[in-house]
Amino acid sequence: MDKTTLAYWQEKAAALAIEGRAFIGGEYRPAESGRTFDCVSPIDGKVLAQVADCGEAEVNAAVSAARRAFEGGVWSGLNPRQRKAKLLKWAALMREHLDELALLETLDAGKPIGDTTSVDVPGAVYCVEWFAEAIDKVGGEVVPADHHLVGLVTREPLGVVAAVVPWNFPILMASWKFGPALAAGNSVVLKPSEKSPLSAIRVAQLALEAGIPAGVFNVVPGGGEAGKLLALHRDVDCLAFTGSTNVGKLIMQYAGQSNLKRVWLELGGKSPNIVLPDCPDLDRAAKTAAGAIFYNMGEMCTAGSRLLVHRDIKDVFLDKLVEAARGYIPGNPLDPNTSMGAIVDQLQLDRVLAYIEAGRAEAKLLHGGSRVQQESGGFYIEPTVFDVSQHNAKIAREEIFGPVLSVITFDSIDEAVKIANDSDYGLAAAVWTANLTTAHEVARRLRAGTVWVNCYDEGGDMNFPFGGYRQSGNGRDKSLHALEKYTELKSTLVRLR
Ligand code: NAD
Repeated sequence: MDKTTLAYWQEKAAALAIEGRAFIGGEYRPAESGRTFDCVSPIDGKVLAQVADCGEAEVNAAVSAARRAFEGGVWSGLNPRQRKAKLLKWAALMREHLDELALLETLDAGKPIGDTTSVDVPGAVYCVEWFAEAIDKVGGEVVPADHHLVGLVTREPLGVVAAVVPWNFPILMASWKFGPALAAGNSVVLKPSEKSPLSAIRVAQLALEAGIPAGVFNVVPGGGEAGKLLALHRDVDCLAFTGSTNVGKLIMQYAGQSNLKRVWLELGGKSPNIVLPDCPDLDRAAKTAAGAIFYNMGEMCTAGSRLLVHRDIKDVFLDKLVEAARGYIPGNPLDPNTSMGAIVDQLQLDRVLAYIEAGRAEAKLLHGGSRVQQESGGFYIEPTVFDVSQHNAKIAREEIFGPVLSVITFDSIDEAVKIANDSDYGLAAAVWTANLTTAHEVARRLRAGTVWVNCYDEGGDMNFPFGGYRQSGNGRDKSLHALEKYTELKSTLVRLR
């Protein structure tokens, strides 16, 4: 059957056997309490599966299994070359199961199948491969010291790493944690979001098949309570979190209340995309600006949700932007021709619609603004554009995490930079200009972990560290710097005589 048709993916979806149990110590098991939660597809609002609602018993069991594996050296004690081989096998198995994993991701999170097959799952595979390939090439240092000493600086795995992740890129965000953490020799307990747990549960079995020993990689699906139990756990050495800034703040508190575990936070954003009057290509900039907010239904931490446009080009630019927005038509995510899927669940749908209502009161609606496809039973919202006169209006200040763009007008570069930096967040930013000096000067002044010049969301390459300034978090995913999060530095001083 033809993979480019809706019928193909619908047929595959109907035949899919979905696993909903936790994966602990190398086996699937239900929650001891017998509790499950409904895993609902945002495509049609129907229940896909019952998923184990993990509580204290499962979190304790997973952390114990991870600790036993770590102390036993079955993974941490391997030559990095051996870990690399098993991780590469795991990546190969994920690639073999690419369609199945992409389908789980699409059914569970409402993401277009064209994206999950080309971005989410391949991106996760690439991440595991990249860290596998890196780990037998990075070494420690022999540092200058007194003549009678040999001084070594080495990096050692931390032990048990817990990863708590969101639903917008379920397997990809998870891989940015478990890729480097496992490569460095740690054991991992992964808690996927309760809104999108299925792909994580599935890849756990593939890890075992790849020869990653039982207990090294565990998955405990559940809600915020399971995440909290991990963050408070005294035998977890590190909590790597991606999610909202509010929950990130709690995670830091939990670490302080328990064992001061290492905490790494990848949090929210309200990223500015600045178009200067000398923008080299207004057509491309407008298309890119639309993609920056409407790709993945705006459920992007780096979403270019604040579009700053110079007054001189505003009218012509907005015409082009709205034209580009019209190209995003919410549709069935299982259709390979769909570029805009469903909002992840009813809660998020209501949240986004409430922001749109707030926007109607404080800004001028230029495009969209409505829920659509209601007859499907799923959760779909049109791409929505507001012209905002006050840059600190609610919709221009708070992270919406949906397809809602605020356009803000400015008159000078200084004003644009000031508005761009006037945010609690600092995840990403972009500037469009034909002037090289302006590009570098503005890039330097923007308080953000990633700055794009004449583009947006480029850099799928694993070489770029990813993370935020300010309340967008601390630490960086991706790149060799990510290994720093999952290792301790040790100085060893050997006296020769
Ligand atoms: P969220 O903070 O609600 O949930 C994230 C995870 O934390 C989920 O697994 C959830 O179950 C868990 N959780 C909830 N309450 C908890 C608690 N009290 N203790 C421990 N864990 C708890 O975020 P979300 O709605 O899943 O994701 C959207 C957010 O994620 C947005 O703010 C987005 O910007 C951010 N995000 C950031 C990045 C990045 O790399 N910076 C990437 C993707 C998403």
